[in-house]
Amino acid sequence: FCAATRTFHSLRPSTDLPPDSLPATAAAYAFSNLSSPLPDRPAVVDAATGIAISYPSFLAAVRSLAGGLWSALGLRPGDVALVVSPSCPDVAVLDFALMTIGAVVSPANPVSTAEEYAHMVALSRPVVALAAPEVAARLPRDLRCVVIGSDEYRRLSSAGGAAPPPPVAVRQSDTAAVLYSSGTTGRVKAVAISHRNLIALIATHKGNRAEVEKEAAEAGEEPPPPTVTLFPLPLFHVFGFMMLLRSVAMGETAVLMERFDFGDALRAIERYRVTLLPGAPPLLVAMIKSEEARRRDLSSLIAIGIGGAPLGREVAERFAAIFPNIELIQGYGLTESSGSVASTVGPEESKAYGSVGKLASHMEAKIVDPSTGEALGPGQRGELWIRYVGDDEATAATKDREGWLKTGDLCYFNEDGFLYIVDRLKELIKYKGYQVPPAELEHILNSHPDIMDAAVIPYPDEDAGQLPMAFIVRKPGSNLTEQQVMDHVAKQVAPYKKVRRVTFVSVIKKSPAGKILRRELVQQAVSMG
Ligand code: AMP
Repeated sequence: FCAATRTFHSLRPSTDLPPDSLPATAAAYAFSNLSSPLPDRPAVVDAATGIAISYPSFLAAVRSLAGGLWSALGLRPGDVALVVSPSCPDVAVLDFALMTIGAVVSPANPVSTAEEYAHMVALSRPVVALAAPEVAARLPRDLRCVVIGSDEYRRLSSAGGAAPPPPVAVRQSDTAAVLYSSGTTGRVKAVAISHRNLIALIATHKGNRAEVEKEAAEAGEEPPPPTVTLFPLPLFHVFGFMMLLRSVAMGETAVLMERFDFGDALRAIERYRVTLLPGAPPLLVAMIKSEEARRRDLSSLIAIGIGGAPLGREVAERFAAIFPNIELIQGYGLTESSGSVASTVGPEESKAYGSVGKLASHMEAKIVDPSTGEALGPGQRGELWIRYVGDDEATAATKDREGWLKTGDLCYFNEDGFLYIVDRLKELIKYKGYQVPPAELEHILNSHPDIMDAAVIPYPDEDAGQLPMAFIVRKPGSNLTEQQVMDHVAKQVAPYKKVRRVTFVSVIKKSPAGKILRRELVQQAVSMG
């Protein structure tokens, strides 16, 4: 912590970034990081079928598809491509192929509704959608759509064999991906992530790995084996998207699951000797409660990485007591920060249960009193503001406009630099780690002819983290039921956004300015039980 500037700096060793003047896509940077000859292990594996793609095949598939996207589909740098599919090796190849030609990957949840896709398309303006067959019918009619796995897609995939993509002049500051997040308030927004954001992330992992190898060498031990990561995480969320990028850039193996099922995940850990299992807190709760988890051979598992939503200290401690040999990595990030802001590194730090670890390299932070705007010191709670610092060029670019991102999270740092997330100041609800923007549900509820006013709040729940709960004021004379309220929302939103609790009230508490007093509603809901 620097008292003069009231800024927290990263305690991690800073890693070198390639100069911004050097054109490079995140995909090219990731591939340039691979050993020569290429790693002798699968790049991606499909958990259900066991189909594995080696590194040489993966790179060849990316190159060939990139050529097809360029020549047959006519995609050019800056063109946005919506990618909507459950996780599978095809999607991994596609993400890298799009980045290779400087096109912008825009991954979206495959269970969204037609209205939700229409909103995303209006925001990011894709020129094409590459979609799983079951999704295609819900995409806007006027958006060109190529179905993944179709004959047309297969032609694209093989086209580049004869005509590889030309070199593209993409700057690192250009957009590599557009993800969707509601941010601190209101409906879903499009979040642009630059190639440089992704390059910094890869550089950070390189630095962490070098650190781990150095420590092992100093202790006269073998370095940990190359990571095999299981992906119960969806590839459209920042956590999964970044983990895939990291896995490929580090020459590791990514085992992809089409959809999350805890039993399948346990079997995949055994079958593929998985070493790293990343996920949201409900994954850890499931591990603790599951009998099967204790019966299975999880001996390959070195670490579980948890982030995306708050993890209770008690849950972390219970996990450590039941699985003493599995390191619990805790991390914190946002779509808007292109992923990791802080995490624990190594078994010692992971014992700081309740903390999300220390600031990642290239990150700077302030803790700001939300009411006074005053920047606070260690041990004091306030809103976390963050910004990227890179090499001199990047720093110069951010200095002028200060460049702070307000996270909407109430946090503090302790004296040792460990970050603690205390509460969420922003409107966002997180159901099993997925974003549920209350404003979107309130809009849908208010459109019901029997509803006079509505507010949606997070209701605490051990398994899901939070449940979307609606406070409803009915029109006089209406006998609308809880079930009818839930059904009205359910048919208009993706399943993870459903309202799962309803209460009827005579009035919704608001501030004099008309803002819903969400905190008071949460307290009211919890005290009602
Ligand atoms: P998303 O953009 O979906 O990753 O959501 C980011 C938000 O999730 C953050 O602003 C936090 O409110 C919450 N979040 C993510 N990771 C954590 C964590 N480890 N602990 C508490 N909240 C978290």
